Amino acid sequence: MEGPGRIVTDSMIGIRLPDYARYTSRVAFVLGQNPTMFTGPGTNTYLVGLGRRPLLLDTGAGVAVYPELLARGLVELSGSREIDKIVATHGHPDHIGGVRQVREKFGHLEVLKKPWPERDTAAGAAPITAIEPDALIFAEGATLQAVSTPGHAPDHLCYYLPEERALFTGDVVLGAGTTVIPEDSGDLAQYMDSLRRLLELDVETIYPAHGPVIRNPKQKIREYIAHRELRENQVLDTLRQGPLEVMAIVKKIYTDVPEFLHQAAAMSVRSHLRKLLNESAVVEHQGRWALR
Ligand SMILES: [Zn+2]
Repeated sequence: MEGPGRIVTDSMIGIRLPDYARYTSRVAFVLGQNPTMFTGPGTNTYLVGLGRRPLLLDTGAGVAVYPELLARGLVELSGSREIDKIVATHGHPDHIGGVRQVREKFGHLEVLKKPWPERDTAAGAAPITAIEPDALIFAEGATLQAVSTPGHAPDHLCYYLPEERALFTGDVVLGAGTTVIPEDSGDLAQYMDSLRRLLELDVETIYPAHGPVIRNPKQKIREYIAHRELRENQVLDTLRQGPLEVMAIVKKIYTDVPEFLHQAAAMSVRSHLRKLLNESAVVEHQGRWALR
């Protein structure tokens, strides 16, 4: 199935965000205008920096109205018509799908991200400038420090803004809903490590790629970790009763979730089973899973 489009659960439905807004002297936001069941109100794109040439963090999905909105937001929020460069959290199309149209409107801007060559090319974001975890990126009066956070996507970087003890979390921590671990390229064990890495940072505010700003970062990250640990324990408990297929596990665990969401739940259960398989805690035989 198409992984990257499915970013969050249905709890994002109904959240409303403005088209653009200024949060602090260094951080403003423009909505990507790509609302779906799985991206909530759409992707948050951020303008970072004090001056008249802020950098743009993520670009949305490539929706036609976005570049005009970005231009209008820039004038109103920064008194500016220029962008310094583009920085991306990861190669999913709702984050770098807008690179081409932003370049058409603002000139051939540099795009900084950790490489994921096939996805970067497929989304029309190539060429990119490769950066690695711990890289420092500078805008006027603002520094972004890249933080290694694979798991949702193999190339995922979060960005820490030390001047405001703020963290841009991309799709690792969301303003609402739960991050999806895609079947094809996600890795739940890496994702858990990424969350624990974020917990070590001195963070006051989280700016997620979907949904509202998070003002209780430590609590939110701990909730994310606890939620996954609970699910893992539920999967193990269920298998104590004997070998089961994935959908049977889903039906036992997700008793409070409507049936039309069981396919999405199955993807989450499979991510847990893959993690447990790698840890030699479970085995799989002909589609049935069992404790080892
Ligand atoms: Zn994503």
